[in-house]
Amino acid sequence: MGLPQPEELRRYKEGEPALPGPLVVGGSGRLVEPIRDLLSDYDFGDDDTEKFGGLVFDATGITTIEELKQLYIFFQPLMRKLLPCARVVVVGTTPELVKKADERIAQRALEGFTRSVAKEVRRGATANLVYVSPKAKTDFSGLAAPLRFFLSAKSTYVDAQVVRVNEKSTEAPANWDKPLDGKVALVTGAARGIGATIAEVMARDGAKVIVADMPQAGDALSEVANKIGGVALALDVTAANAPEKIAEAAERFGGLDIVVHNAGITRDKLLANMDAGRWDSVIAVNLIAPKNITEGLVANGGLKEGGRVVDVSSIAGIAGNRGQTNYGASKAGVIGMVDAEAAELGKKEITINAVAPGFIETQMTAAIPLATREVGRRLNSLLQGGQTVDVAETIAFFASPASSAVTGNTVRVCGQSLLGA
Ligand code: NAD
Repeated sequence: MGLPQPEELRRYKEGEPALPGPLVVGGSGRLVEPIRDLLSDYDFGDDDTEKFGGLVFDATGITTIEELKQLYIFFQPLMRKLLPCARVVVVGTTPELVKKADERIAQRALEGFTRSVAKEVRRGATANLVYVSPKAKTDFSGLAAPLRFFLSAKSTYVDAQVVRVNEKSTEAPANWDKPLDGKVALVTGAARGIGATIAEVMARDGAKVIVADMPQAGDALSEVANKIGGVALALDVTAANAPEKIAEAAERFGGLDIVVHNAGITRDKLLANMDAGRWDSVIAVNLIAPKNITEGLVANGGLKEGGRVVDVSSIAGIAGNRGQTNYGASKAGVIGMVDAEAAELGKKEITINAVAPGFIETQMTAAIPLATREVGRRLNSLLQGGQTVDVAETIAFFASPASSAVTGNTVRVCGQSLLGA
C-alpha cells in the first residue's frame, strides 16, 4: 500500500539479553538505590555510552511542581540516545495515596509526561510508568517484577501504561526464565487464538496448564494440550457447575494457583437492531462467567491462597465501539470487576488484574477488510498490530508469584492505541 514499514519489534527469546543495550538509572528519590539492587544483573551504561537500551528514572523524589524540571534535565539529553526497541520506565509514588497536595499534583503529572514520551520515542521503543505505594518504606521487593517486565522484550506491545505496586513483599523466582515453575494454571477459551498462546507461554514459564474450551472445540483443544504437555477440559464457562468442574480437574495437581478468564465472544449489531439474545450471551460469557468462576473457586477452595486471577478486557471496554454496546459493556465491566474484587481477594493474598488488548493479529482480525484492517493496525504509537504472544506475556507477568504486590490493575496491550487514549 506504499506505507512505511514499521519497526520489527523485539520479542522474548530465552538466553537473549532483556534490553537491546545498556541501562541507565537516574533520579534522586527513595527508590533509586533499591532499583539498582533489584536490577543488579543488568548491563549498566557509563559516561561513554552512546546509545542506551533502557532508561529508568526514579521520580519519587519529586514533591513539588517546580521539581518536575528534574524530568526535563534527565530525559532531554537522552532522547536521541535510545536504541530501537529501547525501554523507558518512570517510577513514581501512587498519587491517590499521597497526602500533600503539591506532591500529589507533581506525581500525577508523571502520567502525562510518560505518555507523551511514549509518543515521541521511535522505532519500537516504549515508555511506561510504575507507581509505588508510599507505604512501601524499606521493602521494595514488589517492584522487581514490574520493572523487569517493562525492561524486557516481553512488554513489547505494552506502551504508555501505568502499573500500581503496593507495599507487599515478594520473593524473586529462583529463575526469572521459569517464573511459574511448579504452578498450576487454568486458561479458558484456550483452543485457539489468544487463549492457546497464553497456555503456551505459561507452559514455557514452567506451569502445568489446564486448557478449557467449549465441548465442540474438542480436537483443537486436545492439540493445544498435547503440544504443551497440559490437560484438556471440555467446559462451557457459563455452566452453573463450572467452578466445581474446574476445581475437580485441578484437584489431582493439588489445586489451582492461576486462573485466566480468556474465553470471550462478540455478537455485534447496532443497538437499534440488537436482539436480546446477542446482549445476553455476550454479558453471560464475558462478564458473568468470570465473576461466578472466580467467586466459586474462592468459595470451594479450588483456587489456593496466594493465587492469581487474570481477566481479559478490551480497549473496546475503554473507548467504546460502534456496533459493540454489548461487548463494550461486558469488557468495561471486567475492569470494574478487577477494581471491585481486589481488596476482598487480597485478604487471601490473591491478586486480580486485567489486560485490555488492542488490535491483535488473530483469525478474527484477519477477517476484517484490508483497508479497515490496515487503519486498525496502524492507529498506535508502534504503527502495527500486536501478536497474541504480547497479550500472553503480560498475563504471565500478572500470574507470576513475584507479582504479589501488583493487584487491581488493568494494563492495555495496544501499542498506545489512539482509541480511548
Ligand atoms: P477467539 O474467538 O479466537 O477465541 C475465543 C475462544 O473462547 C474460542 O476458542 C471459543 O470456543 C472460546 N469460548 C467462547 N465461548 C466460550 C464458553 N462459553 N465457554 C468456554 N469457551 C468459550 O478469540 P480471541 O481473539 O483469541 O480472544 C480471546 C479474548 O481476548 C476474548 O476475551 C476477546 O474478547 C479478547 N480480545 C481479543 C482481541 C483481538 O484483537 N483478538 C482484542 C481485545 C480483546
